Amino acid sequence: MNLAQPILIVEDHDFQRRILARLLDALGARQVLEAENGRAALALLDAGHAPGLVICDLDMPEMDGMAFIRHLGERLPDVPVIIASALDPALLGSVAKMADAYGVRLLGVLEKPVTRVHLAQLIAAGDGERPRRVMSPMPSFTLEEIEAGIRNHEFVPFFQPKLDMKNGALAGAEALARWRHPAQGIVAPYGFILTLEQAGRIDALTFLMLEQAAHAARRLREAGLDITVSVNLSTTSLADVTLADRVTQIVTACGVEPKHMVLEITETAAMTALAPALENLTRLRMKGFGLSIDDYGTGFASLAQLARVPFTELKIDQGFVTGCSENPNAHVIVEASLALARGLKLRTVAEGIETQADWDALRALACDLAQGYFIARPMDEAAFVAFARGQPK
Ligand code: C2E
Ligand code: CA
Ligand code: CA
Repeated sequence: MNLAQPILIVEDHDFQRRILARLLDALGARQVLEAENGRAALALLDAGHAPGLVICDLDMPEMDGMAFIRHLGERLPDVPVIIASALDPALLGSVAKMADAYGVRLLGVLEKPVTRVHLAQLIAAGDGERPRRVMSPMPSFTLEEIEAGIRNHEFVPFFQPKLDMKNGALAGAEALARWRHPAQGIVAPYGFILTLEQAGRIDALTFLMLEQAAHAARRLREAGLDITVSVNLSTTSLADVTLADRVTQIVTACGVEPKHMVLEITETAAMTALAPALENLTRLRMKGFGLSIDDYGTGFASLAQLARVPFTELKIDQGFVTGCSENPNAHVIVEASLALARGLKLRTVAEGIETQADWDALRALACDLAQGYFIARPMDEAAFVAFARGQPK
């Protein structure tokens, strides 16, 4: 337990603060700093105090816990925080997400009245040094480097399985771009997608991915796997009315029928009223491609906007799926999304299933397909074939 560094208590209630200070003393804390609200706590930081841990109430006058966490994230993002609060669990969930978004490491929540055992457990949780999450990964590659990689065909699809939740059978795979960088190893999409999109140069990657995914789809079908392969389309690509025909050409040239491929488009893209986007999507559907609404729940698409495009599938964003068994608000959103999808006669996919509990919750809600680390991470084609052999037919 790291009690050698000062511990800062931010709590407006004198009695509660006293109790916490006494508990910390009893646990062997070297120094306990006390502040009665966020502003007073900031003043302590300004005066040069450097706590190794902050225990913070949420509801306080002058500067509440949320504002203090934001300031802490700006000044001392490496200092872990324990929230001590009597608020209801749904609200605590939002606070945890907020803290994460501000780059603050939340060790956990202490419910009041605070007990010594629980406090000790949370402080101990802070001992395991966790690599800090990279908040805004530096796009360490230039556009020129990325485009050279595309020309050299260094980009390959990895495949993440989608399982039928009724019987666990393999139903499909999502192709996710990976850069086999000659020096850096496997590079994930955040290292290159945004750079390409912002430069208006994503199409070359899209077509390369599409072609390789279609080739893989043909090989997988030849190996006896009756599954669909999904590919991600960028919103920016939809503005060009020739997209649908080029996509169709690439896929059919690989010997694959469009009905065995699904194109995933983010919910935000589905909202664009852009005539060319609608023309492309309608044409792709007419050719037989499946069309999936990706990241559903992160945009604000209206029912009318969703109904306008002939979608075949709805993927609920992992932000709601992961942990939905424990988070009542997320659970409600997932349930409502599934009802909406059913009403629109769309196949439903839950993405981001990380635990048995998430799987059970989604299955109980009769979601059609599941995708997530609980089943498998994205993998190269050979590993995917091996995975497929191990699944029930
Ligand atoms: P996405 O389309 O939402 O893809 C799902 C992402 O969630 C993948 O990240 C996948 O590895 C990750 N994921 C799957 N299951 C879980 C889980 O249980 N827990 C967690 N925490 N994550 C899970 P990845 O491969 O890093 O891709 C990130 C994004 O990059 C994709 O998000 C997609 O928007 C974009 N992307 C990937 N490949 C392509 C591509 O070929 N073209 C375009 N335009 N975008 C792509
Ligand atoms: Ca996707
Ligand atoms: Ca997604």
